[in-house]
Amino acid sequence: MKGMIYQTVCPGCNIGCGLYIREDDEGTVSVDFMKSSPANLGKLCRFGMQLPHHYSKAISMVDSVEASIEDAVQAASGKLKGAKDVAMLSVGATTSEEHLAFTRVADALGTVVHTGMGTYAELPPECHAAVGQGIPLEDVEQAGKIALFIDPYTQYPLIMRRLLAAKRNGASIIAVGPKKIKLADETKHIGPDQYESELGLDSDSMIIADVHPHSDPEHVKHLLNLALMTGARIMFMKPFVDSTGVHLISKGTGQKGLQEIMDGINEGSIKTLVTLDSDPIELMPNGAEDILKKLDNLIVISSRNSPVTKLAHIVIGTEPLYAKAGSFMNTEGQVLKNSGEGTVGVDALSTIAQNLGGEAFDCQSLHTHVLENVVKEYTGPKYKKLSCKIIETAPEEGKGNLINVYNPFMWFDQPDDNDFVMVNMNTVKSLGLRKGGMIALTSNGGTLKMRYAVAEVPDGLMLTNKKLPIATGTCTVVTAEGC
Ligand code: SF4
Repeated sequence: MKGMIYQTVCPGCNIGCGLYIREDDEGTVSVDFMKSSPANLGKLCRFGMQLPHHYSKAISMVDSVEASIEDAVQAASGKLKGAKDVAMLSVGATTSEEHLAFTRVADALGTVVHTGMGTYAELPPECHAAVGQGIPLEDVEQAGKIALFIDPYTQYPLIMRRLLAAKRNGASIIAVGPKKIKLADETKHIGPDQYESELGLDSDSMIIADVHPHSDPEHVKHLLNLALMTGARIMFMKPFVDSTGVHLISKGTGQKGLQEIMDGINEGSIKTLVTLDSDPIELMPNGAEDILKKLDNLIVISSRNSPVTKLAHIVIGTEPLYAKAGSFMNTEGQVLKNSGEGTVGVDALSTIAQNLGGEAFDCQSLHTHVLENVVKEYTGPKYKKLSCKIIETAPEEGKGNLINVYNPFMWFDQPDDNDFVMVNMNTVKSLGLRKGGMIALTSNGGTLKMRYAVAEVPDGLMLTNKKLPIATGTCTVVTAEGC
């Protein structure tokens, strides 16, 4: 088989697992393991194994008609020239260099790039380093105690080998959350007001949590306080291949969260949206599509086909992620370089920037800038204790709580196999649920029938890996009936 072999990184999350992509002469793509990759030693999770599905190439379009990329770039420049009420979104699902190029276009327009992480806007700037910076993954293996606020079986799975190594080295692991985590020595379903007294953390401990576009900023504040008060190191896992890079590149730009951008479109204060490898429909499956239809201009710059490319007025289709020249910053703060040499995306952005009165740039100069902004050292808390709202974790009397357990892999057009809620045996019995039957859930947001699965969760709680239309927040009070 001839073709090309690329040394690249899995785009499924910010761990940055290394792998090879083989592309044959017909363009068929397959995955090969990279045993020398320090982040994963050649191992890949379910998402990594399914990568060929992810690489469905985006075709350049103008007004739903296939076009050359040059024509799409000119059409986009024409729409952006003099445009007001523009929002630009790049969540970090491409190289740091393309994200930086996108910010140069934003400069030419007199605006900023939003990363969709509304949490940053809710936190004092002095906290941003603690949330955004990386920690070497091998430090997880040396921790004396680990407080785990993620479910490593479904989120960021390659963190698992670090946790197992930590256990072999004598660490104790306490999982905090509604679902029993088998790998942990114990699982505690406790509220933030109990974290400090119940978890027994100290400076030899590590807190592993995550931050993503749907994070509750109040919970992030509670975790930052926990790190501050106990001296434990804190590491926030992130969902996109370059989440750490875009944080460093876009810090201090007053980023809007996804919801805020959608609200702006809905109210008419945003008329033009430009996205860079970021699909609001995948990120917010409940309602983003209808809101995006209100835009005057939806300009999508993307390396892959996804629901938003079908809705866009203009699509600028760039090369696949693995073929791009450039780099990513993983959750450790390490720069991971792609072996690809493609600059179609950066060159398209350079042309748009020039058409808008900005300066030309190339991939190499952008890469140099990226390297100058790398942070490899954990700097420790530099903030004062934050005031936080109380977060209730116990169900209301006579009702249940539906909890959305965030799953990053729902964001990449993967087959949806999470169409059920998890309940415990007591709930099955008390509701008289039949084997193969359904559970009807009612909240202020309406009623929904769902399949169910039995899991070890506390009484009265129902967990879901997807945000259901009846959910009014991360935790939604519901009444339930068997049907
Ligand atoms: S853990 Fe993350 S980076 Fe690694 S293979 Fe899975 S999705 Fe990809």
